[in-house]
Amino acid sequence: MNDKRYNLFSSHLKALFGGRVHKISVDAGLSCPNRGATRLRPGCLFCDPGGSGAVGIARGAQVAEQIEQGKEVMRRKYKAQRFIAYFQPFSNTAAPVDDLRRLYDEALGVEDVVGLAVGTRPDCCPPEVFELLAEYHRRTYFWLELGLQSIHDRTLEFLRRGHDYACFREAFARAREQGLNVCVHVILGLPGESREDMLATADEMARLQVDGIKIHLLHVLDGTPLGELYRRGEIAVLSQDDYVQLVTDFIARLHPRTLVQRLTGDGPRDRLLAPRWSLKKWEVINAIDDALKQRNMRQGSDCRLS
Ligand code: SF4
Repeated sequence: MNDKRYNLFSSHLKALFGGRVHKISVDAGLSCPNRGATRLRPGCLFCDPGGSGAVGIARGAQVAEQIEQGKEVMRRKYKAQRFIAYFQPFSNTAAPVDDLRRLYDEALGVEDVVGLAVGTRPDCCPPEVFELLAEYHRRTYFWLELGLQSIHDRTLEFLRRGHDYACFREAFARAREQGLNVCVHVILGLPGESREDMLATADEMARLQVDGIKIHLLHVLDGTPLGELYRRGEIAVLSQDDYVQLVTDFIARLHPRTLVQRLTGDGPRDRLLAPRWSLKKWEVINAIDDALKQRNMRQGSDCRLS
């Protein structure tokens, strides 16, 4: 554990690779079962036209070119030395295995790329895809990123996720059988969920001993079905203070070994409807660090794992 009071992924990478390693987001041009082949179906309530949350991607360019452009930015901004190609928007296992292999190999062929992260949905991983991912797990530093958002089926239904929690459990179990590192994405502040509901998701992540977690704050983007609900006053978002207290409790309930890859959400400035406070990402992260100290909590300090 580092001075952050949680198991910070970037520190893990630094220790593992002996220097700064950053992810570069890549759009492989794939779609997702929820958005249809043309990417035009509305999909999940919060999904934006770009496939949920990816910013700063040189879309339309070849994978290798996108990574080269991302490298320049990461070197300039963070003095990063090595990189993980992160297939981020849409579902990056939604293609025949040969096509996926070609895309992943193209990424790994770029100089200074030391690993892969593949983001997808739990219902988008047939057995042959898991075999392929296991191959990359053996070849390189590899993460499978699974979108879950909540363990509660009524929430998943409300979000129009198109899969339930049992589907996630099945995909997670298969990933584990293959020995993959799995990072799970969850969202805090989802409509209809109480504090206890959200912390139950943390308890379940602890029980599963997930390898990594990305905790997203529910943020509402213009041009999404969620944005329409927000404009009609049918949903609300969390205040910064409520989020900070909640995420502090969430961290404390996690398993101490889980790597924390994200602690908030920050949508594109020009399309973010709410909460606008989330744009000050470092202020939010600092407030979480302060709250953990003030409350004398750390990752795992309230872990309910029996
Ligand atoms: S799974 Fe991802 S890409 Fe597909 S509709 Fe949902 S948020 Fe969008």
